[in-house]
Formats: sequence, C-alpha cells, structure tokens
Amino acid sequence: MYQLKFDENLCKTCPTGDCLVKCQYMDSNKNEAIEEMVKISKGEDSFVLQNCITCYGCEEYCKRGNHPFYLVTERRQEKGILTAPRAITKQWINIGEPRGKFKLGDIKKKVLSFGFMPELLQLVKGRLFDDVMPSYVFGQEFFCNVVYIHFANTSIIKERLPMVIDNFRKLGVEEVVCMHDECYGAFASLAPAYGMEVPFKPIHYFEYLYNRLKELSNEIRPLNTKVAYQRPCSSRLSSDKHHFVADIMQLIGVDLVERKYQNENALCCGDVLGMAFGYEIKNDVQKRNIDDMVEHEAEYCVFNCSACQNALAIKVAKRGIKPIHIIDICRMAIGEK
Ligand code: SF4
Ligand code: SF4
Repeated sequence: MYQLKFDENLCKTCPTGDCLVKCQYMDSNKNEAIEEMVKISKGEDSFVLQNCITCYGCEEYCKRGNHPFYLVTERRQEKGILTAPRAITKQWINIGEPRGKFKLGDIKKKVLSFGFMPELLQLVKGRLFDDVMPSYVFGQEFFCNVVYIHFANTSIIKERLPMVIDNFRKLGVEEVVCMHDECYGAFASLAPAYGMEVPFKPIHYFEYLYNRLKELSNEIRPLNTKVAYQRPCSSRLSSDKHHFVADIMQLIGVDLVERKYQNENALCCGDVLGMAFGYEIKNDVQKRNIDDMVEHEAEYCVFNCSACQNALAIKVAKRGIKPIHIIDICRMAIGEK
C-alpha cells in the first residue's frame, strides 16, 4: 500500500509554521502550528483534525513540500473522523467508480484529459484546442479521485489513482493536458507524495492556454474589462501554476482586480463546505467572496473549475457580475465568442 511521505523533522525546524498560521479557518501561532503538525504526524489527537474544513490551502502555504493537508486527511481516516455524513461520502465514492463507459477521441501522444467533468465536453472547443483535439479522454477510468480528500478518504484514492495512471499508460500517451487542476494536482502533487510513478508528463491547462494564446497572438483583441478570478480549492495543489491566471489576463487585455480574497488569501466556492460542514459557513464564505468582487467593480467573474461555476454563477449574476469560464474569456479574446 502506498504511504504518504511526511517528514516531521521538517516541521520541527520550520521557520514559519505557515500551514496553520495562514489557515483562514483556525487561529494558530508559529509554535502552536509546529506542535500540532508534529502531534498529527505522531498519530496523536489535535484540534486541527476536528476543525479543518478541507480548503486545501495549507498544501500551498507549506513551502517545505511537506503535505500537511494530505497528512490531516490520512489521520482523519485512520481515526474515523468523518467530514461529511456517511451516506453523502458513499454517494460521492460511487459516482467515481469505473464502469467501462469512458470515451476516447483519436488518441495521439498528447491528449486532453477531461477527467470526469461532463461540462468540459462543451467548453473545450475552437482554435485554442485544434492542435490537440480530437485527442481526448473522458470518464471515470480517467477521473483522478482527488476530490475524496474532502471526505477524509485517502484509501479510495490510493486504490483508484494507480489504476487511472495505468489507463493512461496503456494508451501510450506521453503528455496529458489536464483540463481540471485537481487532475493536474493528482499527477504532479498527490501521486509523487505517495510514491506513485507517473509515466507521462502532466501539463496544467493554464500553461497550455497561455502558450496557445501566444501562438494566436495576432488574433487577440484586448477585452479591456475588469475581472475577478474565482480560485478553486484544487488550485492549491498546483500553486506553481497559479501565476498563469495573471499572465493570461495580461495577454488578453484584461484587468485582474486586486481584491482581498485572491492568490493565497482566496476563498473557495463554498460548495463542499455546505455539503460537509453546514450552510452557515458556506453562506458566510460565499457572501464575503462576492461582496469583495462587487466592491472591486469586477465586470466578470472568471472561473477555472466547473464545480465553482455551478456553485456561484447565479449568485454573482444576481449581484451584476457576469460569470464566465477562463476558456470562454480566452475564446472571446480571439473573436470566437
Ligand atoms: S507542514 Fe510545512 S509549514 Fe507546517 S510546520 Fe511542517 S514544514 Fe512548517
Ligand atoms: S486544509 Fe484549509 S482549513 Fe484545513 S488545515 Fe489546511 S488551511 Fe486549514
């Protein structure tokens, strides 16, 4: 069985304890943060195991590569500390179960992976993708399963993710452009953290979009608008790719507003929070986030994750902000929308 690589000695010499010091849902100072992480590593109880709301943020805050959130998730499962009612967890786990109903395009060495997000089948269109499409995969057989860290369940990931990786290997692909950043995080962060070998190069779709827009730069018409970016929880697993949001917005002539809840301080869409931790926290997070977008006069709310868009699109629209996926705003800039 795969084991998480977590080094408590890195915590003992940590200069910041940023994993918990920066946590937006708990108050800790440096010494307390280090003490709690060492306790969790040893398998002892900690308030963090009770209070973590699974925002994934500490995976980004820890600059020592020590995977504090994966550790919290491991220990919660070991101790039976559930984050959601058993029935909801089971329902979600069933949704991701491979059923042999996956779809394959005309597979080449480079493929787009839609994971198991049907919305992507509609979104991924036009010249931005015509150098790779129709080389794509879709279905549970290619679904990264990382979402189950919201449900304190790493054992299902350890069981299914190696099978998903093997499904890509059987296709003989060399490069996988992950159209959802949780999928990229699975191959670039979680798999290495558990010692799983990934026999292809994962590419974050932001990087792909940025390079493709540069190839099509003669066709870009600056959009001259103000946008707020809704950063999803899963983006914390690939924080080294987050800069591409600003890079892409600059390329298409868009002003990314400097708001309170962005970059490391971003708030998640609240979708999982409502399901697992109650409507009070969900409503609070969503209200603060949308108020912040309104205050900074964003004309559009740019989404990366379809689940965030499903959770917030109507709510931002009611406040006078147009919801749009980052792929669509890029297509607008090259005159396709
Ligand atoms: S998990 Fe990372 S940030 Fe937190 S105490 Fe350990 S080394 Fe420091
Ligand atoms: S996942 Fe989020 S809520 Fe949980 S400990 Fe990390 S930063 Fe805090």
